[in-house]
Amino acid sequence: MKSSLSPRIVTLGTSGGPRWWAAADSGERTGIATAVVVGDAFYLVDFGQGAGRRLAQSGLDLMDLRALFVTHLHSDHVYDLAGLGIFGLYALTSRIDNPVRILGPGNRGALPALSPRAIVAPAPLAPGNPTPGTREMFETLMAAHATDLNDRIFDSLRPSPLDVFKAEDIKIPEGIGYHPNHNQTPKMDPFEVFRDELVTVTAILVEHPPVAPAFAFRFDTAEGSATISGDTCFTQNLITLAQGTDLLLHEAIDFDWVEQLHRTKTDPGSRAARDHHYKSHTSVRDAAKAAEAAGAGQLALHHLVPGHAPDRVWEEAAEHFSGRFVLPHDLDTIPFGSQR
Ligand SMILES: [Zn+2]
Ligand SMILES: [Zn+2]
Repeated sequence: MKSSLSPRIVTLGTSGGPRWWAAADSGERTGIATAVVVGDAFYLVDFGQGAGRRLAQSGLDLMDLRALFVTHLHSDHVYDLAGLGIFGLYALTSRIDNPVRILGPGNRGALPALSPRAIVAPAPLAPGNPTPGTREMFETLMAAHATDLNDRIFDSLRPSPLDVFKAEDIKIPEGIGYHPNHNQTPKMDPFEVFRDELVTVTAILVEHPPVAPAFAFRFDTAEGSATISGDTCFTQNLITLAQGTDLLLHEAIDFDWVEQLHRTKTDPGSRAARDHHYKSHTSVRDAAKAAEAAGAGQLALHHLVPGHAPDRVWEEAAEHFSGRFVLPHDLDTIPFGSQR
């Protein structure tokens, strides 16, 4: 059967981690950002550092952007959102009556617990609202650029970015026992967060402490499905969401690199950073295990930490996964579903 939608992933950026200034860490890979292309439309999941440039290089037309989904509010996933808002208004003038939705986590509601390695309690940044969600973050980013944007709006008669983008907080289903500090990843069913005539997008809570909420997303089309893990350690919820998916994009970290990085460091900051990697990310082997448990047709690893690690580090996944394994670089295309 000839495919009409040709659903596919375009990997805009495939590196994880916020250290964009340390080129040695990310290598050729740009900050995490993924396009899900269905027919003439596309959807974005996360928009890390360099994603705007990669989007331009991909040939995707901003006019065809339907919606953007944020897995969680770590800086490496949202860094280029400000640029998208500020510059997007030039391309999206026709979207005033139908703004591009930006859907992501709501306000955390409470500061995370203090690391047991802390010697003194730190003062929070922005104590009046220390844990803003997606809507507040996007609106605040635009407000910070109000001098420029009001020049455009008043002098050049451009639309406001708040007219062509609509940032919204994803509402977590009630009654599942979720709590940002005490129960970040309760056992749950996937729930719908978006639907149009081409895709249904469902989400589930994944495990990326101290971040909460943190989501994985699944895109179902008439011709196949793709699931994107977001940042997570190995968790049953991701396997639940990805059950039978045609393509799973999963994050991975090289724990040998983590060990090397922290081997000689004993200060509390380094120790806490090392702890974070172990409780919040997934080894190559466990990513393959999750794909196998979900019965995924294909597995692709992305959000690679560190981005400069040689391919053979990630290719170990193929040894633990019976489906097709793909190791994408930035700007690769991975078809999924019936047309593959
Ligand atoms: Zn990340
Ligand atoms: Zn993260």
